[in-house]
Amino acid sequence: MKPDEKRKHAGPRAADFFQIATLATVSLFATGTTLAADTQAIQDDYFHTGAGHHYLLRADTGIITHTLRDNISVLEGSGGNIVVLTGKDGKFLVDAGIGKSRDKVKAALAAISPAPVKYVVNTHWHWDHTDGNAWMHADGATLVAQVNTLKHLSQTTHVDDWNWTFQPVPAVARPTVLVNDAKTFDFDGSKIRVENFGPGHSDGDLWVYFEKADVLAMGDTFWNAGYPFIDNQDGGSINAAIHWANEAIDHTTDHTLVIPGHGRPAGTRAQVIEFRDMLVGVRDNVAKLKQQGKSLDEVIAAKPTAAFDAKWGHFVIKPDFFVKLVYAGVK
Ligand SMILES: [Zn+2]
Repeated sequence: MKPDEKRKHAGPRAADFFQIATLATVSLFATGTTLAADTQAIQDDYFHTGAGHHYLLRADTGIITHTLRDNISVLEGSGGNIVVLTGKDGKFLVDAGIGKSRDKVKAALAAISPAPVKYVVNTHWHWDHTDGNAWMHADGATLVAQVNTLKHLSQTTHVDDWNWTFQPVPAVARPTVLVNDAKTFDFDGSKIRVENFGPGHSDGDLWVYFEKADVLAMGDTFWNAGYPFIDNQDGGSINAAIHWANEAIDHTTDHTLVIPGHGRPAGTRAQVIEFRDMLVGVRDNVAKLKQQGKSLDEVIAAKPTAAFDAKWGHFVIKPDFFVKLVYAGVK
């Protein structure tokens, strides 16, 4: 494929989204096409109807700062949760949020302390956790990620379940400190362990454990009270997601605060156990139906998540979509 053709097939950057939406509307009017029908055809994707759309809207309202303990806070409202450790060595962040809310995130960080951001760990490559990389790096932060996260950020990556093609990010937004399995930082008198346990939510997840505070930031391998997205196309699967939840349960106690990628920031081990049990319950229900030879539509119609929907079905990922994500990962 020639470079020009490749560009033609790749989707626009999120930053171009509003301009493209405007152009599409203008051209529809110009050709006299029925707006409603064509709008629907154009718009069923990550940034129009999916999670990206949800996070762009959410970024219009304020950032909520949750103060946990031992100088650790969580900023909620810029894509995925952003975890902040602040101290005399500067700030150590987990995830970068989305660029749209840069000014709000900057203000929230300044309100915590004047210390500069020294490190940002990307828990994985998804836009809602890495789109803020460029400005954070420009402000002096070193970007840290698992090797496969750098791979996705450096190349065109299409995600079928989001109906979207993500372009490579500019060089300045790419992580430069890479982790395979584990890396430990000595920061502000505490050890910070950054670890990968193989495939999970994607092929490049990291969790970040702040030893002194006993706080574990899990990125999207934990969603607190909402069905999770699973990036099946990029190494994730329901079984891998269950594996990560089990690792978290093994590595924590009732004293540990467990921070999810999405959902209520100050989670507990008990809530990770609930999350794991939900994943296992839905996995088993879906697998049983699939083994009976049922198609995806038939499995969705059978409502295998029914027992869990009241608690988990009202967040970003709705029950039918979650069943699709699970179905793809079971035999
Ligand atoms: Zn994600």
